[in-house]
Amino acid sequence: MPSGGQYQVSTAAAAAASPRRRASLYSLTDSSDVGPEEEEVDGPPEIPTTPLKRLTCSMCKDEKVVKELIIGRRVGFYKVRGEIGYGTFSRVKLAFHALTKDKVALKILDRTRLDVQAQRLLTREISNMEGLQHPNVVRLYEVVDTPCRLYLALEYAGGGDLHTRICDGGKMPDNCCKITFAQILSAIKYLHKNNIIHRDLKAENVLFTSRGCVKVADFGFSTHVTARDHALDTFCGSPPYAAPELFRDECYQGPPVDVWAMGVLLFFMVTGSMPFRADTLGKLRHCILDGSYAVPPWVPGPCQRIIKGMLKPLPQERHAVDQMLGCDWLLPVEFPWPLLGPEAPCPQGLLDSRPGELKEEEEEVRAGLEELGFTLEHIRNNGPLDSRSPVTGVYRILLHRAQRRRGCETAPVVRGMVRDPKREGLRAFRGLRHTSKFCVIS
Ligand code: ATP
Ligand code: MG
Repeated sequence: MPSGGQYQVSTAAAAAASPRRRASLYSLTDSSDVGPEEEEVDGPPEIPTTPLKRLTCSMCKDEKVVKELIIGRRVGFYKVRGEIGYGTFSRVKLAFHALTKDKVALKILDRTRLDVQAQRLLTREISNMEGLQHPNVVRLYEVVDTPCRLYLALEYAGGGDLHTRICDGGKMPDNCCKITFAQILSAIKYLHKNNIIHRDLKAENVLFTSRGCVKVADFGFSTHVTARDHALDTFCGSPPYAAPELFRDECYQGPPVDVWAMGVLLFFMVTGSMPFRADTLGKLRHCILDGSYAVPPWVPGPCQRIIKGMLKPLPQERHAVDQMLGCDWLLPVEFPWPLLGPEAPCPQGLLDSRPGELKEEEEEVRAGLEELGFTLEHIRNNGPLDSRSPVTGVYRILLHRAQRRRGCETAPVVRGMVRDPKREGLRAFRGLRHTSKFCVIS
């Protein structure tokens, strides 16, 4: 525990953060701080002195804020703004954290519309994202749980998605493909190293930040495997990206299925069209099982080879992720950052560390939390809540900000990059978004 007591909180100060008669989750007090006898005492109201106290106070006492909470214009510490996307199971809205002012994407799921299977997938989505921390994977900051809805506060990727980019701008120039694909590959390598299989890789789920950093999103179909050869049996994902074994076999292994989807994705990026196309699911299935696709001859040879390596019909013959990062086509790509370790830090780390033990960015987070009014007491009480805690939410947002400031999301570069003068417009696939489905292979 850090000495110096900058995180020590007096119970009186903590109690001042909450209204006496209307305790809420967001009052962030230890329930023992406000005893029933204190509720009866009427003294001069204490003036909230920190941003946290002001916010928690307004969430209980300010009529306008309370109304916004009731009508869903505020969710927990987030101020909700317009819609930025929607999916099969969710609506996604832009939101701002009321304390840190950071933008987040708030994925909203209506519990009443989720059947048992969908609930299970959602639980997995949250637990799989919980420990992930990689520059090319969308981060989960916080989960706000209410009886009717579940809100996932996610890192906001404001640069649109890959599908829209290709539909609007046509096939991507070779160097741009290299930079984008290398980041997708880096994300998948990280996921597989942590035994997470994405299972829904598609251009719609590859997002960009406003600075052009790639973010793999939507872990709704992801699964955690105990070993690389762990057999899976649920068909899920988007049919045009589905590997042949998903249509053919009862069981399949996770990593090759993600590799196949990356092959389809790269084909789409370099040509602007999909390798397997059909107007019915039956015909598409046939097409994929047949393995009938043709890479246009103008695609550079090294790129053709990597696509063919990923679209091998037999999963055991398909390229492995490790193999691809060192291939001819990606060799000129230079990553400015090393892969981050698999352990995502948690606020409790601030409690357990001795002076000088924390990394520079964690020190920055500690100072930021303190400035906002979070105390050691809040962190201690945060305990086992993981992302279902506003303390974790603020901690993760501040940590991410500190890491970004240190360049953790600088996009890779291609050594000796040449700009492609030709950007052909391609409209054929405009508006055709690929929906994801799941069913059990019987
Ligand atoms: P589906 O299964 O149909 O792909 P879903 O319900 O799982 O959808 P997401 O894919 O996670 O939902 O999100 C739907 C859309 O919302 C995305 O296609 C994207 O446009 C937008 N979106 C999701 N997450 C973010 C984010 N972190 N930043 C910006 N936009 C986002
Ligand atoms: Mg999606």
